[in-house]
Amino acid sequence: MSKSDQSYDYIVVGAGSAGCVLANRLSADPNNRVLLLEAGGSDINPWIHIPVGYFKTMHHPATDWCYKTESDPGVAGRRLQWPCGKVLGGSSSINGLLYVRGQLQDYDRWAEMGNKGWSFEEVLPYFKKSEDQERGADEYHGVGGLLKVSDLRLRRPIADFFIKAATQIGIPLNKDYNGEKQEGVGYFQQTAHKGFRWSTATGFLRPARKRPNLSVLTKAQTVRVLFEGTRAVGIEYLKGGELHQAMADREVVLSSGAIGSPKILQLSGVGPRALLDKVGVPVVKDLPGVGQNLQDHLQIRLVFKTSQRTLNDEVNNIFKRGLVGLQYMLTRTGPLTLAASQVAIFTNSKPDVERSDIQFHMQPLSADKPGEGAHKFSAFTSSVCQLRPHSRGYLEIKSKDPLEHPAIHPNYLSDPRDQQVAIDSIKVARRISEAPALAPHIIDEYVPGRQYQSDEELLEAARKYSQTIYHPVGTCKMGHDDMAVVDDRLRVHGLEHLRVVDASIMPEIVSGNTNAPTIMIAEKASDMILEDAGAS
Ligand SMILES: Cc1cc2nc3c(=O)[nH]c(=O)nc-3n(C[C@H](O)[C@H](O)[C@H](O)COP(=O)(O)OP(=O)(O)OC[C@H]3O[C@@H](n4cnc5c(N)ncnc54)[C@H](O)[C@@H]3O)c2cc1C
Repeated sequence: MSKSDQSYDYIVVGAGSAGCVLANRLSADPNNRVLLLEAGGSDINPWIHIPVGYFKTMHHPATDWCYKTESDPGVAGRRLQWPCGKVLGGSSSINGLLYVRGQLQDYDRWAEMGNKGWSFEEVLPYFKKSEDQERGADEYHGVGGLLKVSDLRLRRPIADFFIKAATQIGIPLNKDYNGEKQEGVGYFQQTAHKGFRWSTATGFLRPARKRPNLSVLTKAQTVRVLFEGTRAVGIEYLKGGELHQAMADREVVLSSGAIGSPKILQLSGVGPRALLDKVGVPVVKDLPGVGQNLQDHLQIRLVFKTSQRTLNDEVNNIFKRGLVGLQYMLTRTGPLTLAASQVAIFTNSKPDVERSDIQFHMQPLSADKPGEGAHKFSAFTSSVCQLRPHSRGYLEIKSKDPLEHPAIHPNYLSDPRDQQVAIDSIKVARRISEAPALAPHIIDEYVPGRQYQSDEELLEAARKYSQTIYHPVGTCKMGHDDMAVVDDRLRVHGLEHLRVVDASIMPEIVSGNTNAPTIMIAEKASDMILEDAGAS
């Protein structure tokens, strides 16, 4: 072991959506010495910056941890691929670019659960602080922030028909689902600028890199937190095949994501005692909630063959792909600027639901699985997911080996209420496809297919044709009950000088995509960390 003589004020572990924000905000004061460690490498790969590049970076070990769940009975015993960014920018460097905040009631719920400071009114300033909204500022949006948010650069007629069809079944048009009301149908907003991805590495880390008080280490995988008694004093990390240490005078902040952060805690002896005993890690703090409360959005992907041309037809030979590349090089427009989806719908799975409980992601293209080659026929995807599932999963380390992936058990569709929403949401997808604006353009329901009719059959289809939509959260949940891992200032319960700041702290998943909420969490946490340092 080589012992580092380096010490810092703050050590931030993980340069993802949250970690890059923290590195920027904490190092803004030149008196704070900040170390940011990232297990992955730098983000020079051009596919990271070309929006549609997630088709190349996802499932690639150079940029993705390439996790796989355990076999899950909820999805017909399948093991699902769970991509997760392993590179500067973390998942914001390989994600689908969709900018979605969720519903204001999500944050009010967090506050109602006893988490002071997390109501929508209190978090909105942090969403606005980050934001540089192309449409301009208003009550809900900010300009001048470090996170560029823009409208899509690609429109296709099939998407317009889809929007019209949704309105024909009673879903209102909504030009800003991040505004006063989320419900409705409209085009997605995205974290992109002038045709390039806007990851947190681009937006937050790049402008801070030249600061002499910020050190960034890539290909440095943190193995465990070092403690003196119950106080975190530093970390141990692997770089170049060797173990090193770095010490933190003020705080260690884990921002390693919903899989990485609980894994590091468990490896450090912070987690459920029975698990730590089983794998032989000495217990520093018995915290039963570490790795529990795992939540995700499960997307059921319906594919419709259409008589309209879709992106499938625009990229189905090498010549056309060349033209698409040329269009992008010359104008920064066209299919290469594609965010993961075009049209968003937030609506109810049943009329009596109090607030939208399902979300659609409509894509003017189709493939057997996300990230695979497009089908050779004209088709579009109408993917639907439940926004606030009741099913809960968990993850746990399998051994003391830091290089071994944890066992991930999502327990999808294990709650009967979620099964009913899955059934009802396929029915809503079909109603949209049958509306007058869309029906004439549809040749066939390719997946799951009209042979699935009864509720039992629809549930079977949901189990067979669903995938993660890549939103794992909740594994180090914020709260005050026995299963909470951090308090509402994101300090780990029962330990000192240690926080978790990333998607894992969400007590309940938000009603939408999780990147913008994670950036908000990091903005708010930065203020709390600096406030607490001022007060000490
Ligand atoms: C393929 C994909 C598509 C998605 N699409 C969207 C979308 O369109 N819109 C949206 O809002 N959300 C999307 N998401 C989800 C969103 O990007 C994540 O919720 C968000 O980025 C999570 O941020 P985080 O900071 O918690 O974790 P991450 O951004 O994943 O960052 C964690 C970082 O910690 C590093 N790390 C982990 N362990 C260690 C260790 N031991 N030592 C050092 N470093 C470590 C990781 O390499 C990573 O860089 C998508 C996610 C994926 C994977």
